[in-house]
Amino acid sequence: MPQNWCPFDPGSGRVPGHYDVLIYPNDFAAFQLDSEPFTPETGLYSKTGARGSCDVVLYHPQHALAPSQLSIEHWRKVVDLWAKRHRELAGNPDVQYVYIFENTGVAIGVTMPHPHGQIYAFPFIPPLIQRELDSAADHFRDHRECIYCSILRDEIAEGRRLVSETSHFVAFVPFFARWPGEIQIYARRHFGRTTDLTDSEASDLARIIKLIRMKYDHLFGFPMPLMMLLRQSPAKGDHPYFHFHVDFYPTQRSATKLKYLAGVESGAGTFLNDTVAEQKAKELRETEPRSLQAPGLKHYPA
Ligand SMILES: [Zn+2]
Ligand SMILES: [Zn+2]
Repeated sequence: MPQNWCPFDPGSGRVPGHYDVLIYPNDFAAFQLDSEPFTPETGLYSKTGARGSCDVVLYHPQHALAPSQLSIEHWRKVVDLWAKRHRELAGNPDVQYVYIFENTGVAIGVTMPHPHGQIYAFPFIPPLIQRELDSAADHFRDHRECIYCSILRDEIAEGRRLVSETSHFVAFVPFFARWPGEIQIYARRHFGRTTDLTDSEASDLARIIKLIRMKYDHLFGFPMPLMMLLRQSPAKGDHPYFHFHVDFYPTQRSATKLKYLAGVESGAGTFLNDTVAEQKAKELRETEPRSLQAPGLKHYPA
């Protein structure tokens, strides 16, 4: 293998010679759709089987591009690919949850700088997502209102934690932010999945993701290591209490300090956050990249 060889580059022999955006099966998949069928068992350890899938979503053929440097039009292609793949996977009888996410940055263990995200199709609903679903369902039952619609209304009225707004989406640092500069993007309209996006919502989602990514990358002058998580309704059934949103967990406390998940976070599930949501929101709101197309970033090493 030549040094700097990347399987995601056109010409690598692993992907087509030309592509715009691409679904690439993960070489080290935790789930596969043809694994042993699901066999419920009783006993100390319950098993769910491993029927599902792990995709890599290649955002762009160019290796040394930060996600914030993709054009809005190109992000739109990623959004459309998310929805298309979600539809395919959710139609599979074994798939219970389609989890679309991205890990970016060496600081959080990503060894491949090529711009990409991932899609896991789970044969069960992952525990943190189940907990969020349960809380949202409880609120809906007790208050006859979607909790996300209530939060959105309050955040817009309050204004101090807003980061940016577009026609169809609102980005803010939540009151309950756990990560320094955590942002959530809520759809203004109440719907549950990427497959429910209208044409203009899909373009607008591309626009706000690009904008938030640029703000993050301009904050300290280098691509922000982060996790980007799409929160959607489960693949099966109706979930009127749930509301589509995108969460960003940046891992940088400052230009030189990382946020680590240590004993209190990992062992007790309690996040220590030494930043104030309103201050971080102001910082991010006022970080205005000069041009949407030419952010002038340091690139990832090629
Ligand atoms: Zn590459
Ligand atoms: Zn809602």
